[in-house]
Amino acid sequence: MRAVLTDLTIPRYLMTAAAQTFPRGAGSRAGWGVAGLLSLRDDVPEPVLPRAPGWVRLRPELSGICGSDTAVAHAKSSPVLSAYYSARRQILGHEIVAVVEAAGPGVTSVREGDRVAVDPVLSCVHRGFEPCRSCRDGYPYVCERFDQPGTTGCRSPTQGFDAALGGGWGEVVVAHQTQLHPVGAVPSRRAVLAEPASIALHAALRWPRRGDRAVVIGPGTIGLLLIAALRRLHPDLDITAVGPGAFSRERALLAGASRTLEPGPRVVEAIAAEHGGRVIRPRLTRTPILEQGVDVVFDCVALSSTLDLSLHVLRPTGMLVLVGSAGRQSVDWSLVWNRQLTVQGTVNSGPEESLGGRPTMAQVVEWLADPAFPVDDLVTHTFALDGWRAALAAASAGPRAGAVKVTLRPNPEIPLAG
Ligand SMILES: [Zn+2]
Repeated sequence: MRAVLTDLTIPRYLMTAAAQTFPRGAGSRAGWGVAGLLSLRDDVPEPVLPRAPGWVRLRPELSGICGSDTAVAHAKSSPVLSAYYSARRQILGHEIVAVVEAAGPGVTSVREGDRVAVDPVLSCVHRGFEPCRSCRDGYPYVCERFDQPGTTGCRSPTQGFDAALGGGWGEVVVAHQTQLHPVGAVPSRRAVLAEPASIALHAALRWPRRGDRAVVIGPGTIGLLLIAALRRLHPDLDITAVGPGAFSRERALLAGASRTLEPGPRVVEAIAAEHGGRVIRPRLTRTPILEQGVDVVFDCVALSSTLDLSLHVLRPTGMLVLVGSAGRQSVDWSLVWNRQLTVQGTVNSGPEESLGGRPTMAQVVEWLADPAFPVDDLVTHTFALDGWRAALAAASAGPRAGAVKVTLRPNPEIPLAG
């Protein structure tokens, strides 16, 4: 079959070093520019159904390009997390809306021809193990066996980072029926957002609401979906979106933000001007502290500058939620201690305690089916597999290319819905 894939034949730490050393677009045959480590091939073996009940063969309609995908393409994934992403061959693409092509033995919840969104998390149950403590406690999205292939052969926490089950950037994907959420007639360009919208809702639910004021930093796909999720969960919440450029900020308002601000130290004064609160200026550092600050900050960027800003605008006992992929950053954490802040990580999605155990994606698919959920303009680009280089270029450029969510269409013969 055709697929865009990464063949990792040198150790990851060498690749990471190489990616930082080689200039963009120069050097090896793979190239370290837009294409990174990826190539499109016609001779990729199709993934096979694991020998266990409940597995399904899918053909993707649309598959999104995530920031984590471009990070893999450029060998910039975290060296620490390489423990969990150890597969040598990766067919990327974990944001998938697909059509069921064939159901294997024991499949009861979907039928041939059904359209489904795919939850890419592969827990103990999917790998054929007795549940680990995380899976048993209802948190399969932080399974303790993410590095062990089990009966799936997949050496990765999620689909799309190992070729064993295929990925969304190929013509065929294999998934377990428990990973599938039927989307009915939801338009393809909305349904393909089910995975990033689940990440966003899962992040929103990490904050047990205490107070009325939130800040969301970074209105990219996840940030915009997070604003939309917060607005659904808390119609009266005051949400300030922080991001550069009119393009992102207009979209943040459409998604449900109360206002938008340009990033930088002046955000502190701007929030104080809006809500009151006292601005305190440290003698030796640049960013002022906001006394009577906001209740929660969702940082979808997680650079030193945004983490620093987050800590300066939170009120005592407030919460900083780290969304998307963080990494190694230099930050003065003094305010965490001094103001008794909570720093909350969040990853993947799954059964939600605060939704009575309902999977995040089930909730999100319901929202995506509602035309009033304001996400229609998020998919800005769609390319055939042949256009994968242009797709990665647009995804990497983001707002500079007028791009929010860029998608690939691996099976052009399948008509898009909506
Ligand atoms: Zn587990």
